[in-house]
Amino acid sequence: MFEISFIPAFKDNYIWLLRRDHQALVVDPGDAAPVLARLAEDGLTLAGILITHHHADHQGGVGELTAHHPAPVFAPAGESITGRTAPLDGGERLTLLGQTLDVLAVPGHTAGHLAYLTDDGLFCGDTLFGAGCGRLFEGTPAQMAASLDRLAALPPTTRIYCAHEYTAVNLRFATAVEPDNPAITARAAQVAAQRRANLPSVPSTLAEELATNPFLRCRQPAVIAAARQHGATDDSPVAVFAALRRWRSEDR
Ligand code: ZN
Ligand code: FE
Repeated sequence: MFEISFIPAFKDNYIWLLRRDHQALVVDPGDAAPVLARLAEDGLTLAGILITHHHADHQGGVGELTAHHPAPVFAPAGESITGRTAPLDGGERLTLLGQTLDVLAVPGHTAGHLAYLTDDGLFCGDTLFGAGCGRLFEGTPAQMAASLDRLAALPPTTRIYCAHEYTAVNLRFATAVEPDNPAITARAAQVAAQRRANLPSVPSTLAEELATNPFLRCRQPAVIAAARQHGATDDSPVAVFAALRRWRSEDR
């Protein structure tokens, strides 16, 4: 097992740090400075960098980090990534610091987006968020819906280590979609309390997401009904997903 913690970056990014003894992996270091500070503070050697996708807030720190700590850079093969040493397509199994990590292709937010799965944690970048999902910058609704279906099929105990603190605002949208879902009401209260105390709302578990995340609930009658009122042309999960995603983006 890794010991997992986060390094806050920018306004609302989380850079995840996976530690074993005095070695560490980092996921999506958009900024090098807070990572360098943490490695120095904790006396850690950087053993690898895992990148989910090419956006600057996820890979912007790679050049400076590897200048100080030469380490392999695992990243999507099909995206433009600074300093990538290990191109990945999804489907690979990595062994790092004695632990296995499965690489999953989850296109939608970007075309080559990857997620990394350890024995109990999913590092999913901007694909799945607390109570939400990433915007479709490069993929189609069908692609993103298929990626989310894939994640939804993981064990419900899987911890969801996403890359942004967006849960509170996402829950406002979830409430608009399903005003009568008590799990959403309860989670909104819990997350509001966490944020007031300056605590992260992540990681969640997949079970919590399945109960509260509208984008994982496209087969629920209440979600289908709401999506039909917001442009879904039929009840298929892809049509429902597409309508929700469009509604969410307009709602910002
Ligand atoms: Zn992104
Ligand atoms: Fe991002």
